[in-house]
Amino acid sequence: MDAAPRSLSTPLSPTGSLAAADDRDLGPAMLRGTRGQCPACGSGSLFSSYLKVRPACPSCGEDLTAQRTDDGPAYITILVVSHIIGPLLLAAYLAWRPSPMTLVLAFCAAAIIMSLLLLPRIKGAMVGLQWAKRMHGFGLGEADAS
Ligand SMILES: [Zn+2]
Repeated sequence: MDAAPRSLSTPLSPTGSLAAADDRDLGPAMLRGTRGQCPACGSGSLFSSYLKVRPACPSCGEDLTAQRTDDGPAYITILVVSHIIGPLLLAAYLAWRPSPMTLVLAFCAAAIIMSLLLLPRIKGAMVGLQWAKRMHGFGLGEADAS
C-alpha cells in the first residue's frame, strides 16, 4: 500500500511516471536569479529585501518558499572573493610595497564591497538552479496535483 519514498529531486508527473528533469532551462533561470528576478518568468522581483526571497513571485505567482539556499551563497561568495583578493593582495605588495595599513584598509574595503555585491547575485543564481532542477519541493506542485 505504501509507496516507496521518493527523492525530492525526481518529481513525478500526474500520471506517476518520472517527469523530465530538464524541462526547465537551467541557464536562463540562473541568469534571471542573478539579476534578482523570478527564475520562472523573469519579470517579478525575487527579493523583498537585500537577501530575503519573496514567498511568491509578484508577477507570475510562482511559489518560491521551496528555495533552500541556506549557507551556499555565502560559501561561494567567500570562495570567489578570496580567490580574487588574495592574488591581488600579493601582486599589489610586490608591485608597490605599500604600507601594511594601506594594504589592510584597501583590501578589507575591496573584499567587503565585493562580497556585498556578489552575495545577492549568487543567492539568486542558486534559487534559479534549485527552481530549474526542481530541488527542495520546487517540483512538488505537479506531483501533488495527481
Ligand atoms: Zn515570476
